[in-house]
Order: sequence, then C-alpha cells, then structure tokens
Amino acid sequence: MLHPLTTGVYVHIPFCDRICPYCDFAVVKTRESAIDRYCAALHSEIERAVGPQKVRTIYFGGGTPSAIGPARIAALTALLFDKFAIDPDAIECTLEANPSRGPDDIRRWREAGVNRLSVGVQSFDDTELHRLGRDHSSADARRFLRAARSAGFENISLDLIAGSPGQSLAGFRESLRSAIETGVDHVSVYGLTIEAATPYATWFAREPQVFPDDDLVAALLEEADSQLTAAGFIHYEISNFARAGFESAHNRGYWRQADCAAFGMSAAGYRDGVRYVNHRGFDEYCGAIEAHRSPLAEEEQLDFGRRVGEAAMLALRTSDGIVYEEFRRRFGVDAHAIFGAARKKCSAAGLLEENEAGTRLNNRGRLLANSVCAEFLTPDLPRNEHA
Ligand code: SF4
Repeated sequence: MLHPLTTGVYVHIPFCDRICPYCDFAVVKTRESAIDRYCAALHSEIERAVGPQKVRTIYFGGGTPSAIGPARIAALTALLFDKFAIDPDAIECTLEANPSRGPDDIRRWREAGVNRLSVGVQSFDDTELHRLGRDHSSADARRFLRAARSAGFENISLDLIAGSPGQSLAGFRESLRSAIETGVDHVSVYGLTIEAATPYATWFAREPQVFPDDDLVAALLEEADSQLTAAGFIHYEISNFARAGFESAHNRGYWRQADCAAFGMSAAGYRDGVRYVNHRGFDEYCGAIEAHRSPLAEEEQLDFGRRVGEAAMLALRTSDGIVYEEFRRRFGVDAHAIFGAARKKCSAAGLLEENEAGTRLNNRGRLLANSVCAEFLTPDLPRNEHA
C-alpha cells in the first residue's frame, strides 16, 4: 500500500565512543570539546535554515546520536520543534542508539520528544559482537530493549548484520530468534560490505576465508526473510521488516523522493529535485558554519530523466515496487513503456514479478538488487520529456 509523502528532517550526529573496524561513515571519536563545537555549529545551521514546511519525520542518524547525551538531544528536538512549528505528538522522531546506554538516557530521550528508537544491536552472539568491535554484549542489548519499552517507547527497531566474520547460518538463526523474542516492532538486516581502507579490508585481504562467501550471505538473507515473515513481520524494503503499521515513515519518504532537509556534516538532503550534501569533514563543516559560510559541499539539480530513473530504483527497493499509476500521477509517464528494455532484460533473468499494475523484485531479484536497480536508472523517455 502506498503512503502519503512525508517531509523529513535528517540530523547527522557523527560521534561514536569507539570506531568499528568495518565502518566508513563520516564519524568522529567522542570528545566533549568536539561535541560542544559540533552542536553549536548544528544549532546555527538549523537556526539559519529556511523551511521545510509541514515536517512529518525527524531522524537523528550517525555516527551514534546517543553518544552526545540526552540533554543535547533535548536541546536539538526543542530547537527543531520550535523552528519548524512541529507538534511532537504528530510526527515520527527517530534516534539511532547504542545499546550500551542506560535507562536514565532512554527515559530522557522519550521526554525530549523522541518516539522511535533504532538500536544498533547487530548480533545476539557475543563472539560475533566482539569481532565486530562493538562495546556492548547481547545481555546489554536485551536490557536496553526492555528499558526502552518501560520508558514508553512504542516503536522500536533493531539492526542485525549478515555476513560478519566467522558467522554461521546456525548462529544467525539464533540472532533472528532472539530479535523476534525481544518483541521489537521493526528489524533491519544489513549485509556487511567490506569498505576500502578500513581494518576489515586489511583483514579480508589477509584471511578472506574467515568472511562468509556470497552463497552463505544469500542464505543468511533468505533465512531473515523466512523467519521474520513467519513471525508476522512484513518485508517492506530490501533490508527492512516491520510489524504492520511500524514501517519507518522517514525512510519511506526517502524511498519515494520526498523532500528532506538535512543538517550536520555529510548530511544529504533533497528539495524539489535538487539533491545536496554538506561537507564530510568535521573541521570543514564546523569551520564553514563558524565563518558564516554555507556548509554545502555539492548541490545537483536532477533533470527529469534522472528523477524518474532514481524514483524507479528507489521504488524497486520496496515491496510496492514500481506502481504504474503512481508514476503516471507523479511524472506523467508510462512506466511500463519507458522501462520496457530494463523490464524485459530483468524478467528474462527471472528477477522480477510483474502484473498490469506494476513491477517489483522477486526473492532472487532482492538478492541482486543493485544490478537490477541499475538497469532502471536510464528510462527510455520520449524526446520531449528530457527537459
Ligand atoms: S557505531 Fe556505527 S557509525 Fe559508529 S563506528 Fe560503529 S558502525 Fe560506524
């Protein structure tokens, strides 16, 4: 089912208490003086912003937003609610959190207007957690999730990683079982990617046999689909499962190209077909704000073909897929026709499910989503629609 478009706000908090060996996000090791400087810059950037109107979702991502302490989160939510005239009871406000935090922090986030937690559990196997370089145990994660419920959080998500070093199908099954037992409302399952210039890249070059191969990763992802859907979760996006009504509204907006204002270093936003991204470096971002300059690193106006192509790629990630009627309404195009070549090729390879209303990935297509989506990036538009 298609949901109305939302307008989102994304706030990037780059701090982490320790840097995981597989991470290549824009992160900074937690230091009080750096947090103070960054939060001052963030407040200035938000205060100077024009719009957006009618904000429906706020998402604190990172990094680990929970690392800056609940008082600073409360100051940010208060600023955002005031600046954008937000009714806190009418929006989804998500905070990415590390399970090593205690019940006092959790309670204060809820009081600050956060109403959804996305918890970086990653695994319920302590050996896997150790190899992932995490600073929490499976017992910490269970304790955290119970405390979150007690503090009044009615919308809780947790992340699991598929493909970590030494991971077995049996071990992953146990993690999935534990995730379901915690009673969370949403589970994200991310396949581990080995990013260049990380400690994992060095480890992988030395001992590739320690890491699950493509066949095992595919089996892990299929296991996630089968266990979570059997437990009543809806597989509504390639990496995301939710109980009915608990899909992430913020990410749904992203997958449907809704406007999203972005604040903080490396934050990427979208407005009326313009995509932009802030400086990725800490000093570059803070320095620009302190000198009253724009923190923008890049800004790109997407032409019509790019917008339609990217809309198709994003739609294919979701269980709705490309809905022809929606593309007609949003862009005035016949998606069945303009993606004819891509559909034919991917259908022949057995990667799509098609009917008269639209097209979407089947189970095999999900496993090869990146290559399928790439086929849809360049629609075959009639000449007069390239403007
Ligand atoms: S907690 Fe997340 S953002 Fe921080 S270092 Fe680990 S993977 Fe990267």
